[in-house]
Amino acid sequence: MIIHRIPTFIQKLFPDFIWSIDTIEKAIYLSFDDGPVPEVTPWVLDILASFGAKATFFCVGDNVKKHPEIFQRILTEGHQVGNHTQHHLNGWKTPLDSYLKDTEEANAIMQQFTESPLRYFRPPYGRMRMGQAKALKQSYDIVMWEVLTADYDPTLSAKSCLANSIRATRSGSVVVFHDHEKCFSKLQKVLPAYLSHFQQLGYSFQRLP
Ligand SMILES: [Zn+2]
Repeated sequence: MIIHRIPTFIQKLFPDFIWSIDTIEKAIYLSFDDGPVPEVTPWVLDILASFGAKATFFCVGDNVKKHPEIFQRILTEGHQVGNHTQHHLNGWKTPLDSYLKDTEEANAIMQQFTESPLRYFRPPYGRMRMGQAKALKQSYDIVMWEVLTADYDPTLSAKSCLANSIRATRSGSVVVFHDHEKCFSKLQKVLPAYLSHFQQLGYSFQRLP
């Protein structure tokens, strides 16, 4: 079974990570991991624009290197970006020095596009060791998520993905989708319906501050 909303007690066990944003507004903090890729990210940007929505893109450095024009478009359209390592590393399987080096490589590439320092980091798979977290916390805010859409799960129908994601979301939730080819057929159905549902309820969609 997929846990779509990370329970509060787990969030409290790791208070150094960002799981949700304290807000009195009706606001949802969308995030998209693993891009930018030409097959998906421009479509996501078009959908977000049509809803007046902002989001945060946790980019893989190697994809930024391959598709700089899409990364530039994310920034130009006023979205937030964060570091998701250069090669989408699994922290549990990677020694500290390689993990930090790979993260710095991604940072150096993304930093060419913007003068403001990149503030956010999300570990691929949500997996990192305490030593990695401690080291990266010196330079980044580490962002996890409160709502896991599980859009990458092939056993989950678009209908269930949408219903579960809607049920799990509350004001201030950080929600994770993926701008990745593997998720695209589901994302095409789920994302517009999800945005439409919450827009009708008066929610806005915001980037991380
Ligand atoms: Zn990822």
